[in-house]
Amino acid sequence: MADIKELIDRLYETASLTPDELKAVLSTDEYDEYLHEKAREVAVRTFGKDIYLRGIIEFSNYCKNDCYYCGIRAGNTHCERYRMTVDDIIRCADSGYETGFRTFVLQSGEDLTYKTEDICRMVRTIKENHPDCAVTLSIGEKSREEYQAYFDAGCDRYLLRHETYNSEHYKMLHPNKMSWLNRIRCLHDLKDIGYQTGCGIMVGTPGQTLDHIVEDLVFMKEFDPHMIGIGPFLPAANTPFADCPRGDTELTLRLLSVIRLMLPKVLLPATTALGSAEANGREKGVLAGANVIMPNLSPVENRGKYQLYDGKICISDDAALCSRCITARLASIGYRAVTGRGDHPDYC
Ligand code: SAM
Repeated sequence: MADIKELIDRLYETASLTPDELKAVLSTDEYDEYLHEKAREVAVRTFGKDIYLRGIIEFSNYCKNDCYYCGIRAGNTHCERYRMTVDDIIRCADSGYETGFRTFVLQSGEDLTYKTEDICRMVRTIKENHPDCAVTLSIGEKSREEYQAYFDAGCDRYLLRHETYNSEHYKMLHPNKMSWLNRIRCLHDLKDIGYQTGCGIMVGTPGQTLDHIVEDLVFMKEFDPHMIGIGPFLPAANTPFADCPRGDTELTLRLLSVIRLMLPKVLLPATTALGSAEANGREKGVLAGANVIMPNLSPVENRGKYQLYDGKICISDDAALCSRCITARLASIGYRAVTGRGDHPDYC
């Protein structure tokens, strides 16, 4: 096989490698600096030095699911639950708009209290109040009809990490009643309906191997999503994986760079999990090719309760402070925080 630097060059030039070659690139930290430099170059060519800010509103931490890794899983009786009303969510977006945000990511556990009409009213009202904004939903697995209804109400994007493309690995992370096939079905429906669609994985979940990550990459290349969420797995107290080791941030950064080279135009966040795993993690993500950051717009009193993992950052600063903080952090590495809609280049 060619040496790693040659593989990185080929990935840079052709946006493609074989599974074995991808594995070889992911296996070593020796060329990280070079890999990140190449990924950065591709990101800057596509997006300039602009980093899109999305305001995330974590509107409910009730969840019917019991994912073994997640701090808000149904079975976590230590999790203090909250649920915002539709009107509170709309008000939260209004105040985010005042702060300057033009994309809102509405995320929650799978909380069946909100009916399709509620989600549609939420989306429709935010879009009516602020026609220059994009709305992203991230509320889990739904039927095609529900996805269609949200889309018809004006929703622009949907984030649903596939978590792993290996169905056996999926079973290690989720109870039997959760279905890998259904999650993948959801992603295909979303893209087919016309959403800017996001998939993604955690790095370092229990049982994950490099071969699994390579399977994820092959899937991503083929599926060609508009957004990809990648963050390290971080253990959460009172979950079955509470004592498992956290994911490797170096591998997470390497993966961000490989994805940027494979899918030059993809919207790629430097995630909150990356920022929580390591001081300046989000800045490192940007320097590895990420082009999106999602500051928290949730009311401060709820922030600490949306504890997907321990040690989550930004749980006490209000939206305006978060926005100023991230703007300054980006400026310190030569990048500019921008609050426009920030669509995928093929959607503009
Ligand atoms: N319920 C929606 C769904 O299923 O897509 C959205 C909320 S879910 C909590 C959002 C994402 O958080 C998951 O897709 C998962 O990748 C990530 N997550 C959950 N627990 C985590 C952990 N312990 N460490 C890092 N990320 C985690």
